[in-house]
Amino acid sequence: MPSNSHWMRRDLAAVWHPCTQMKDHESMPLIPIRRGDGIWLEDYCGKRYLDAVSSWWTNIFGHCNPRINERIKQQVDQLEHVMLAGFTHAPVVELSERLLQLCPKGLARVFYADNGSAGIEVALKMSHHYWRNIGQPQKKRFATISNGYHGETLGTMAVSDVALYTQTYEALLMDCIKVPSPDCYYREHGQSWEDYSIQMFAHMQQTLEQHHHELAAVIVEPLVQGAGGMRMYHPVYLSLLRQACDEFGVHLIVDEIAMGFGRTGSMFACEQAQITPDFMVLSKALTGGYLPLAAVLTTEQVYQAFYADYASMKAFLHSHTYTANPLACAAALASLDIFAEDDVIVRNQLLAQEMGKATAHLVDHPHVAEVRQTGMVLAIEMVQDKASKKPFPWQERRGLRVYEHALEQGALLRPLGNVVYFIPPYIITPEQIHWLAEVATVGIDKAVN
Ligand SMILES: *Cc1c(COP(=O)(O)O)cnc(C)c1O
Repeated sequence: MPSNSHWMRRDLAAVWHPCTQMKDHESMPLIPIRRGDGIWLEDYCGKRYLDAVSSWWTNIFGHCNPRINERIKQQVDQLEHVMLAGFTHAPVVELSERLLQLCPKGLARVFYADNGSAGIEVALKMSHHYWRNIGQPQKKRFATISNGYHGETLGTMAVSDVALYTQTYEALLMDCIKVPSPDCYYREHGQSWEDYSIQMFAHMQQTLEQHHHELAAVIVEPLVQGAGGMRMYHPVYLSLLRQACDEFGVHLIVDEIAMGFGRTGSMFACEQAQITPDFMVLSKALTGGYLPLAAVLTTEQVYQAFYADYASMKAFLHSHTYTANPLACAAALASLDIFAEDDVIVRNQLLAQEMGKATAHLVDHPHVAEVRQTGMVLAIEMVQDKASKKPFPWQERRGLRVYEHALEQGALLRPLGNVVYFIPPYIITPEQIHWLAEVATVGIDKAVN
C-alpha cells in the first residue's frame, strides 16, 4: 500500500501548496491524508490527527459526516451542476429561503459566489454599484479596521490589513481607509472590552464624519479578527458602527465568512450586537466544510436599486461559473438540518465553557500574554515578555514549534504566528478539549524555551 512518503514525493514534484514556503518541506514533512472520520484525519501510515482548527475553520460537523454525505450522494445522482443565469434548481431555492429565515431581520436577497474572497468582491462591487444606480457615483471608497482580513484577491487584499499577506502586493491595491481596530488585546490593564471598544470607535466616527461623501461602505469582521491572530472586540462596536453608518449614509458590510454558523456563540456574530448589516457575507462553514460556496445577503432596498428595464444598464452583471453549485447547496442544506435537529448553538455553550476551563491555567504562564475567547474560538498569545507584551521576533517561528509538537502527539493545531488557537468542529468532546489543552500547554512550554 502506498505510504506517506510515496505521496509526499509525488506531491512535491507536482503541487504548489497554498500559504507555504515550499522550501520548508525540505525539513518539515508534508502530511498526506488518506481519510477523514469525524474529528479525526488519518494519514497513509494510519496515524490520526485531531482537527483542532476545523481544516481552516470550515468543518463544523466532522469529516465524512454521514448525514451530509448522504445528501450530497442523493444530489449527485439528480443534478451535479447547471449554470444559474436563466436557470435555477431546488437546492439553491431552498438554501436561499432558509438563510433568509435564519439571518438578521431585514436581509431579503441572496447572491452567490464560489469562495469567500469572491463573495467579498461581490459585496464591494454591489455596494458601489448601488450608489451609482441611485445617482451617487462619487461613493466609491471603502473603509475598514486595521488588522482585518477579507481574502486574497486584489480587491479583498485592498480592504485587508495583515501585512504578511498584503504588503508584497501593495502597489497593485486600491486605496482604502484603515481605521485603528478595536482589538482588545491593546486595552489598558483593568479596562473592560466594552470600554475599550467604545473608546476605539472614536476613530471610526471621525473617519465617517470626514469621508462619508466618498465612502461606499465600511467592511469589518464581526467580533473576531481571524487571520489577524484571533483578536477580539466587544459587540458594542458593531452597534455603534451600525448607527453611524445609518447616520452618514454608508453601507455596512459584515464579513461573517469565518465567524458565521455558530462560531462566536450565536448563529451569526452580528446577532450579538442586534444589528442588520447591508451586506452579510457567508462562506467557510456554510457547507459544513465540504465544498466551496459563498452567499452574499443583502436588503430589498439594495436589490430594488438594480431592478429596472435592461436598457437602463442597472443590472449586476457579475457571475462566477460555479455560482450556487447544486452539490455545494445540498451540503449547506444538510448542515443547516444538523443545526436545527441537534440544537447545536445551545450545546456549544457547554463546549465553550469547557475550552475556557481547560486553558485557564495558561493565563499565569510566564510567556502567555493573554488567553481570550469568544464562543467556540479560543486563542493563546505567546510573547517574549509578559509585562510589556513584547512579541517573540517573528523569524524565530515559535508557533511552528507548537505545531510540530502537536502533530507528533496527533493534533492538528496550526497557529497564526505566535497565536495558538482552537477552532474545533462542534462534535468535539470535553475529554478531547482537555487533551488538546494538555498538548498545547506542553507545546508552548517547548516553544518558549
Ligand atoms: C477565509 C476568509 C476569507 C476568504 O475566504 P476564501 O474562501 O479563502 O477566499 C474572507 N474573510 C474572512 C474573514 C475569512 O476568514
